[in-house]
Amino acid sequence: MGTIIKGKEIANKYKKEISDFVENRKKEFKRVPCISTILVGNDAGSMLYAKNQKRICEQLGLKYILNTFEENTKEKEIIDNIERLNSDNNVDGIILMLPLPKHLNEKYITSKISYKKDIDGLTDINTGMFYKGEKCFIPCTPKGIVKLIESTGINIEGKNAVVVGRSNIVGKPIAHLLLNKNATVTICHSKTKNLKEVCKSADILIAAIGKPNFINEEFVKKGAVVIDVGTNRVEGKVVGDVYFEKVINKADYVTPVPGGVGAMTTTMLMLNTCEALNRNVY
Ligand code: NDP
Repeated sequence: MGTIIKGKEIANKYKKEISDFVENRKKEFKRVPCISTILVGNDAGSMLYAKNQKRICEQLGLKYILNTFEENTKEKEIIDNIERLNSDNNVDGIILMLPLPKHLNEKYITSKISYKKDIDGLTDINTGMFYKGEKCFIPCTPKGIVKLIESTGINIEGKNAVVVGRSNIVGKPIAHLLLNKNATVTICHSKTKNLKEVCKSADILIAAIGKPNFINEEFVKKGAVVIDVGTNRVEGKVVGDVYFEKVINKADYVTPVPGGVGAMTTTMLMLNTCEALNRNVY
C-alpha cells in the first residue's frame, strides 16, 4: 500500500515559515504583508474563497483588505480601484476574484493589475515571464503541486511525468514547472489516444480533469507518484479525479481529496505575498 501525501501537514510547514517571516517583518520594519482582494457581485464560490483568504491571513498575521462592489458596478470604477491599489505602497498583492459579472471584460480588467502585485499569476505579463523562465509569481496550484511531489523525496529530474488536463490555470503551468525540473513531460487531454497506456508510462501522474474517480488503478504504473488536482462535488461530498482507494494499492504516493492539493493552494498565495513584499522595495 502506498503512502498518502498529506497536503494539510505540508501546508502547515509552509504556514509556520510564513508566520515567522511576518513576525520578523513586523519587528524589524513595523510592516506586515498585505493582500487586497476585489470582489464584484455575489458569486457564492468567490465569497467563500474570500472568507477563506481572510481566515488564513488572520491566522498567519498578514493584513487582508476586501474591496466589495455591487454586481452592476461599471468597469471604470473597478479599474480605478485597481490603479489605486497598484500605487498603494502598503498593498503587496492584489487578487481579482473570478468570474466577474457578465457585463465586465475579465481579460481587460485583469490586465490592469500590476504584474508586481499579481500574486495569483493571472496577468499576461506575469504569464509571459513564467513561460520565459523569468523571476515572477508562480501560479499557486502548480506551485503547491511541485512542493507536494518534492515532499516525497523523489528526484523529479529524468522522470516521466504525465499531466492529464491542459488548462491555463493547472495543466499547462504544472507541465512547464516539471519540464523546468528536467522531467520528460507529456500533456494529455480529451482527444488523447490510448490515454491509459500513456498514463501507465508515468513516474509522476497529475490528474487535472474535473471528472470524479476517472483515474483508476488501470491508469497507474506500480510505484508512481499520483497527484489529484480534481475537486468534484458528488452527492454533497468533494471527490477527486483519482479513484483513491484503488490507486493507493498500486502507487507509491497519492494525494487525497480533500487534504491534498487544495490544502496547499491558499498557503502558496500567502507565500507569493511574502515574496511580493520582499521583491517590491518601496
Ligand atoms: P478545465 O475544465 O479547464 O480542464 C480540464 C482538462 O481536462 C481539459 O484540458 C480537458 O481536455 C481535460 N479532459 C476532460 N475530460 C477528459 C478525458 N476524458 N480524458 C482526458 N482529458 C480530459 O479544468 P481545470 O484545469 O480548471 O481544473 C481541473 C480540475 O482541478 C477541476 O476538478 C477543478 O475543480 C480542479 N482544481 C483544483 C484546484 C485546487 O486548488 N485543488 C485549483 C484549480 C482546479 P480538453 O482541453 O481537450 O477539453
